[in-house]
Amino acid sequence: MKHIFSILFLLIASISFANKTSVTILIDPGHGGKDPGHLPLTDTLMQEKDIALEIAMKIGGYLTYNLSNVVVMYTRQSDVYPTLDYRVEMANNNKVDYMLSLHVNGSPNSAVYGTETHIHNYDAKASYKWAQLIEKQFKARAGRKSRGVKTAADIGHSLQILKHTKMPTVLVECGFITNTAEGRYLNSPYGQEIIASAVFRATREFIKSKHSGIDFSPPQDLTDQPDQPHYKVQIMASIDEIATDIREFTKLGFDVERVLVESSSMYKYKYYVGPFDTKKEAKKAQKSVQSNGYKDAFIVYFE
Ligand SMILES: [Zn+2]
Repeated sequence: MKHIFSILFLLIASISFANKTSVTILIDPGHGGKDPGHLPLTDTLMQEKDIALEIAMKIGGYLTYNLSNVVVMYTRQSDVYPTLDYRVEMANNNKVDYMLSLHVNGSPNSAVYGTETHIHNYDAKASYKWAQLIEKQFKARAGRKSRGVKTAADIGHSLQILKHTKMPTVLVECGFITNTAEGRYLNSPYGQEIIASAVFRATREFIKSKHSGIDFSPPQDLTDQPDQPHYKVQIMASIDEIATDIREFTKLGFDVERVLVESSSMYKYKYYVGPFDTKKEAKKAQKSVQSNGYKDAFIVYFE
């Protein structure tokens, strides 16, 4: 009898105190299939369901390839419609640690634009923190207009995903497709990359703060083979190819070079200005592009 108790105790102890070694995130691209979500201003632009899927897959890619010990699941990875019940059950039955739902907003008033992150209520402390980090990234790093964190009370009704999931859950509205400028941004691979990387950064900061015992160090990157000695300033990286003659690049006053990366990393393309012969010139260029919105631009030395 004594034995049974001690075995039972050991079992309970090992379950309660087991060191968590990985984190699971369920990514939920809103709508899909028969449900297009919000509709764009013109038929040539993407519907909410398609933009949500693009951004969701990019976020999943960033998390998978830039962090160790993060498992990413999706409620859908193609143009199909899982019901809201199915999405909630998938989160709860798999006991995922976090759920991230991606949407794009719409309004009869085309002047309305900006991002919102929804949580069930302010008592959901972890969700609230995560949501705040996402809106902070949208504003500070992605240069979007943040409309802030919203709860069921703020919008006057509960969102099923937020109400019934048992883990920290946020629902991100990445912008309004009914606003001409923001709609265009959300339709561009550039805009989708920036939005996705903002959500990724916020999520990385959030899960790192929640799991100090897990090593999230990224896998080794094997990029950037040596060339002639010079400096370049990397302004961004992307999964999908972005044209280098878009306004976001031409406004910099430097030619932007796109380099295809042969690497284990998820980022397939890197974007540089340069080359510069001296570090001083590179620093000057770095300051210039940083003040033009590429706050994370950094100098790379090529031997
Ligand atoms: Zn939606």
